[in-house]
Amino acid sequence: MFRLVNVDGRAALEHDGSWFDLATVSGDDTLADPMVAVARHQELHDLAGRLGAAVPGGAMAGITLGAPVPRPRQVFGIGLNYAEHAGESGQPVPTVPLTFTKFPSCIVGPTADVPVTGPMVDWEVEVVAVIGSAASHVAVADGWNYVAGLMLGQDVSDRAVQLSDTPPQFSLGKSFTAFGPTGPALVSLDAFADTDNVGLWCDVNGERMQDGRTNDLIFSVPQLVAYLSSICTLYPGDLVFTGTPSGVGLARGQFLAVGDELVSGGEGLGELRNRLVEGPGPLTF
Ligand code: ZN
Repeated sequence: MFRLVNVDGRAALEHDGSWFDLATVSGDDTLADPMVAVARHQELHDLAGRLGAAVPGGAMAGITLGAPVPRPRQVFGIGLNYAEHAGESGQPVPTVPLTFTKFPSCIVGPTADVPVTGPMVDWEVEVVAVIGSAASHVAVADGWNYVAGLMLGQDVSDRAVQLSDTPPQFSLGKSFTAFGPTGPALVSLDAFADTDNVGLWCDVNGERMQDGRTNDLIFSVPQLVAYLSSICTLYPGDLVFTGTPSGVGLARGQFLAVGDELVSGGEGLGELRNRLVEGPGPLTF
């Protein structure tokens, strides 16, 4: 198993509280690029197994990590993929995965500051499936075979932008710069007891807002890979934000403000810690 992290833009493996530069431990400079590392994820298991004898690049404590997958070609978001969240949103349970995009320019690391772009900026903790190999017309039963691993993601959403106008178009309201904190590590699937049952939660200023498990997903990861790949060709490094459990701000009538601390956690995945900062809103006409 491996935990792939991004240290100063270079791919590294996390092991025993330290990070190991991937190009250095492999002797292969092309593996310095996190996107190459994701596409060659099968080799990372072996390399991770040899880290006990390697010299670490440094300690994990105190370093600022980048996004494990910093330049995805495509980022899919799935709406209303937990029944309770569909209910709190006043929407019926979907019959196909409700799919939007977070434009890849919103993707940032696990501790990036998030801008408050308006009065309705909201949290959505999610498990993100990272595509590991090109996928087209994949069968549901083979879905996991196309996934390199899992990480946490925050599908930060400016509800005013997301739901503006008729019909609403979700993608821009979810794509302000830094609206996609991810990480802290891309964790290989063999690190999980059950890849279809991963706990995830979200705290705002220390108060638990969301607490769910991926076994409650309406459309599972393999179903999402199969469905998306029946329409789009998926590429290594593509991200699938699999949906958020109930407890978002929109349902509570509570939104994020400057100075808030957003902490998102996942079983075996680690934590995202994001501070809310002042940020410009969208142009209005
Ligand atoms: Zn979402």
